[in-house]
Parts: sequence; C-alpha cells; structure tokens
Amino acid sequence: MRVVAESPGRGGSTSLLGTAAPPEVPEGEVRWSRFLAATEAEGPGVRAALWLQGCAVHCPGCFNPQLWAPRGGALTPTAETARAWVDQARSAGAAGVTLLGGEPFDQAGASAVVAEAFRDGGLTVMTFSGYPLERLTAWSAERADVARLLAATDLLCDGPYLQEMPDPHRPWIGSRNQGIRALTDAHADEVRAIAVHGRLDTLEIRIARDGTVGVNGWATDAALAALLDDLGARADRPGDMRDQQWKAEAVR
Ligand code: SF4
Repeated sequence: MRVVAESPGRGGSTSLLGTAAPPEVPEGEVRWSRFLAATEAEGPGVRAALWLQGCAVHCPGCFNPQLWAPRGGALTPTAETARAWVDQARSAGAAGVTLLGGEPFDQAGASAVVAEAFRDGGLTVMTFSGYPLERLTAWSAERADVARLLAATDLLCDGPYLQEMPDPHRPWIGSRNQGIRALTDAHADEVRAIAVHGRLDTLEIRIARDGTVGVNGWATDAALAALLDDLGARADRPGDMRDQQWKAEAVR
C-alpha cells in the first residue's frame, strides 16, 4: 500500500485509542446499521454511504455511540447485499461509496468484499477508521482481511476521534490528529488541495415526509443543537414538545 497524497493528522500520538488490533470475523455476513444510496456529506462528490455496526475503539464524544454494539443492526449475506447496494447507488447517481460506522476494520473481510463490489461497479471507495494508518499498515502484514480492505480503499480517513482536539478546517474528519490520505490517484488532487488550503465541512439535513429529521456529516454538538433548534420542536427533547403543545392549546 502506498500513500499518494495526504493531509496528515497533527498531535494525539499518545492516545491509546485504536491501538489494539481489531477483531477477526468471518466475511460471509456483514453487520450494518444504515445504507444511503446517495449523499453529498460523507466524502467527495455524490456517494453512497454504509454505516457498519460495531466499533471497539470507543472514542469519548463519538457522534455514533449507538453503532458501538457488535450485536446490533442487521446481519445479511455480504456478497448478495453488496450487489444490491451497488445497484441502488448507481441508480441514485453516486460515483463512490463511503464506509463508516461503527468501524469498517472491525469486520475488515466483509467490508473488503463490499468495497471490491463497488470498485467492480466503477465506483470509488472511501473508508473511515478509528485505527491510525501506521497500526493498520503494521497489522496488514499478518492480517489478510486488513490488507484487503486497505487495498480496496481509494481514500482513507484514519485515527481515533479526540474530542479535545476539534478540527474545523478540514472536511469529513472530526479532530486534528486524524489523517486524510489518498491511497490511489482517484481523489489525490482533492487531498492535495485540502492539505494546502483546508476546506469547511458539509452538513446535510434531510426532513422526511413524516417529519423525521436525519443528519449526515459532522458538526460539533453545539453547532448541531443550534441548527436543530431553528427547525422547531425536537423529538429528542420531549420537554420542548410539551411546551409547544401547551402553547398551541393556550391559543385555541
Ligand atoms: S472510531 Fe468512529 S465510530 Fe468508533 S468510537 Fe471512534 S468516532 Fe465513534
């Protein structure tokens, strides 16, 4: 594996998060939480996004702690599910897929099968990992599943999320210690530009017909709370909804 271009992380090298080798699990089934056929908030351009279920890294302040449990989500046949996802992504106009989580390397074999299916379908692959690249590289010498997922990845964001080191100047990642690396030429120019100029992140808010609000991308808790407050009553804060309902009754 070679790094074609990078915006390396800075600091955080004394953190022990992500330094224990990921579990080795069979690749025949993939455990996942959510699949989105097209989004513009989880990497370059329009991409599909797959949230794997299960993460052993456990970064304090993680945006997706509900994805830590290794037994949650859905468990489906990897190859068959991957083919269906590729079809959905291509129909939605996606040019790539992003694997995130959860932790893709905690089921590296299954993630590699998914990544290879997207590559075969002509899409690029971006992979997020809480494990630092130097650890992944060292483990890949002994672990074929880790080596295979690295080989099927065009763009890697690596390293644990360290909440005390927020990074508002680069897209996709959450903290300054995390690296953005092009492992092929596919997104190398974009990574070079980020290394020189930085770039603000993108947050995507989707409001379904039933009023459910979905958020893709990354923001600080404070920024997200301010944004969601502007949208009105929030189902995750029932007290606000009761107040709103009381006001509505008072004016009747
Ligand atoms: S590696 Fe990612 S999913 Fe896992 S705990 Fe850290 S931020 Fe959360």
